Amino acid sequence: MIEPVEVPAAVFATDPFWARLNRLADDQGHLDHPRILVGRVEPTSRYTLRCERCQSAVVELVVIRAAR
Ligand SMILES: [Zn+2]
Repeated sequence: MIEPVEVPAAVFATDPFWARLNRLADDQGHLDHPRILVGRVEPTSRYTLRCERCQSAVVELVVIRAAR
């Protein structure tokens, strides 16, 4: 399993964010495979990008929120 990718909250779901995810998936052999982003809210904001065709996790994400 690969290390989770840390994503600043401000970047989450932006175009560069999706471009990065797509590149990661492509590089791992999931070119043109349908993918879904599955989220878990706590305790940190963790998400998993899954390939629906391969039924496997492509990459795990952790959204980093700015400290208050
Ligand atoms: Zn795949």
